[in-house]
Amino acid sequence: MTTPVKPTQPKTKSKQATPSQKMPKKDAMTNNQSTSKHQCEPCDAFHLVMARHVSNGLTCDERDKQDLFQALATTVKQQMLADWRQTRVDDISQGRKQVAYLSLEFLMGRSLGNALLNLDIEQTTRDALQEYAVTIEEIEQQEHDAGLGNGGLGRLAACFLDSCASMDLAVTGYGIRYEYGMFAQKLVDGFQVERPDRWLREGNPWEVRAASHNVKVPFFGRTSSYIDRDGRNNVTWTDTQDVLAVAYDMPVPGYKNGRINTLRLWKAEATDDFDLTEFNQGDYSEAVARKNMAEQITMVLYPNDASENGKELRLRQQYFLSSASLQDLLNTWVNQHGNDFSDFAKFNVMQLNDTHPAIAIPELMRLLVDEYFLEWDEAWQVVNQTMAYTNHTLLPEALERWPVRMMQQMLPRIMEIIFEINARYLEQVAHQWPGDASKLADMSIIEEGYEPHVRMAYLAIVACFSVNGVAELHTQLLTSGLFRDFYQLWPTKFNNRTNGVTPRRWLAQCNPKLSALLSKRLGNEWITDLSHLNALNAFTDDVAFIKEWAAVKQANKTELQQLISRECGVEFDAEMMFDVQVKRIHEYKRQLLNILHVIHLYQQIRLGNTDDLVPRCVLIGGKAAPGYAMAKLLIKLANNVAHMVNSDAVVSQYLRFAFLPNYNVSAMEKICPATDLSEQISTAGKEASGTGNMKFMMNGALTIGTLDGANVEMLAEVGQENFFLFGLNANEVAALRLNYQPDSFMPPLSALSEVMELLESGHFNLQEPGIFDSIIASIKSPNDPWMTAADFESYRQAQVDAANAYKDQMSWTQMSIRNTAASGRFSSDMTIAGYRDEIWRA
Ligand SMILES: *Cc1c(COP(=O)(O)O)cnc(C)c1O
Repeated sequence: MTTPVKPTQPKTKSKQATPSQKMPKKDAMTNNQSTSKHQCEPCDAFHLVMARHVSNGLTCDERDKQDLFQALATTVKQQMLADWRQTRVDDISQGRKQVAYLSLEFLMGRSLGNALLNLDIEQTTRDALQEYAVTIEEIEQQEHDAGLGNGGLGRLAACFLDSCASMDLAVTGYGIRYEYGMFAQKLVDGFQVERPDRWLREGNPWEVRAASHNVKVPFFGRTSSYIDRDGRNNVTWTDTQDVLAVAYDMPVPGYKNGRINTLRLWKAEATDDFDLTEFNQGDYSEAVARKNMAEQITMVLYPNDASENGKELRLRQQYFLSSASLQDLLNTWVNQHGNDFSDFAKFNVMQLNDTHPAIAIPELMRLLVDEYFLEWDEAWQVVNQTMAYTNHTLLPEALERWPVRMMQQMLPRIMEIIFEINARYLEQVAHQWPGDASKLADMSIIEEGYEPHVRMAYLAIVACFSVNGVAELHTQLLTSGLFRDFYQLWPTKFNNRTNGVTPRRWLAQCNPKLSALLSKRLGNEWITDLSHLNALNAFTDDVAFIKEWAAVKQANKTELQQLISRECGVEFDAEMMFDVQVKRIHEYKRQLLNILHVIHLYQQIRLGNTDDLVPRCVLIGGKAAPGYAMAKLLIKLANNVAHMVNSDAVVSQYLRFAFLPNYNVSAMEKICPATDLSEQISTAGKEASGTGNMKFMMNGALTIGTLDGANVEMLAEVGQENFFLFGLNANEVAALRLNYQPDSFMPPLSALSEVMELLESGHFNLQEPGIFDSIIASIKSPNDPWMTAADFESYRQAQVDAANAYKDQMSWTQMSIRNTAASGRFSSDMTIAGYRDEIWRA
């Protein structure tokens, strides 16, 4: 018998030590509970569940599997505790610079598979489960996605956490523990219907409630000034309604390196003393209502991707996260160093994931000036040396602005501080551009007008020492457009950090077959240094290798085919080309262009023009913001077109079309390994970077795409001959905007005019007259910012090129290999190395 697990005993951390061989072995799980009884409660739980499972005659219903998941996850977490504690102790004792990554979103997905991989206990767990009628995969399916994000921005934060831990960096993620994450998407008659995502219903086995880190976050009240004993003029913020922030920690294991970082998620609770005050005054109902108000703050994630929402509760969330996280950082500092902040910036840096947590800027000023009595200039220096801002969008509608009135009421002291920051900063502007009043108005943090607003991006640029874009093109457009004046004032603040994705989740974990093939040829180093994939280029003429590569893709396609059959009731055929676009539904991402192309193929097949056609299965998936009518209508259009395509016996020989409901991280883990052609077709200049594009490329998909976001850099890495490029570039889009005439792109008899005619005839909405009128009008409007008509013909031609290329499977597979080979630059490890060396200096 092997040694039972003793995870509660602290163990000395060693960089080489991997926590392998620590899973409970079969005999320990079934009948040998006595040895572990007093050492590992969760292991006992695991043993008990397994024993019951066995006594049930090995039948395993969903309930059993959920129990098994809970037990296994708890056991794995337990195994991390010693290293988790040790990581924290070492970081402090070694005096390492601490990075706080502040983000309103962490789109983590599932954690079990990632933990098994990074802790190197997958094989032992698999062995331990072998004799029971259940696989790891089945157990993994039981885990509810932690969907604490909308899309790319939140998933980036999750990839960064994995890279930071795997690169042995002392980085803590700070976020919100939303009771309800990203809504679940259902389809009813082809329409999106939102269902609440109660991801915590079964409990979260990964989290640890860390009550010792509780802090209070103030809201409302008023400010007043007073002179203290030293004659200093201070400000206090009083009569506040405080909300308790309770820390829930999630472990973030590095890849086989013994480091366990922390994702600290804050939950809002009512403070007892606040409740009591009300209660003593007899306002029982008021007190209970206020308690609910406090807990509302972390109730739900706002489901808007790339658009600001301006809701008061959202501002409360932002301040709640920012204040709680900063108080936590300052408490840790003061515990070690007392009230001397002169070295604070040497040991601390904060990365703001977009402007969502930018309210942390005045909050840090408040804490330092009002609570720790630093002089303004000293405090400003701390802010200035510790805060860095990442911009994620060029869309003006996504730039956050908060009404001054709202902020004055909810956060009176914070608003005063913003005014003071602005006044001092505008002196600098006046100095730079003497006598230029319009510059002052243009660049002011306060946007004047009937209802003055705080421009959060400007606040972030003024206060932070680093402002970065997320792809080369994006950064270039920021410095030459949106933030041009600021770039003139502070050119050295601006820098580019092209996004990336973690090769652990997005290759090693999600594509085990390709992963095994890669390791067989290249060894294992690619998992922590993805530039090793370059060596694949040596095998692009190796016929045996090409065949193995193709076989892996084929097997993955068969798996996805089953998922599509189950989820959509549409039969994909793994012999056909899999053409996929999954991402949030947004006009700028142009799912419409894709749908119009499907209609075009449908027409061609109906006309019998099938000689050159390559059979293909088109998949679209993604959620629309609940208030975004046009995006929701696009989902309906996709579903109606899919219905016509799939129910036509002739058409479906050549074309199948499915809309996958509830696209999320777990779905993407099945989708990207099985994709032949990745659709990255946004209007040039609108997609900041994209990361879905990188996941597909890593897994050997070819891209059909515009010169937008990181596509530009992907194309440069892989070469034109391995990429289906089309469409206007960003400059051409901007130029055409001045005089755009969509009609000129649909001359009679053109493919687009035929498509429009069929769409306008109501062919796809016979029972629902007129429902797609607004989509039709948008395509024909000279004000269509997304210029769908302008790019259609070029897109159609690129699709013909892709189809022709697909006919030669050997050469297609070679291109697939070259795409994976060229994807090394898009590992988030590379991105994080850039943040570490150029921004954090950690
Ligand atoms: C990667 C990912 C995204 C981002 O996709 P883009 O194509 O870059 O917009 C969004 N949602 C999920 C679930 C993802 O995994």
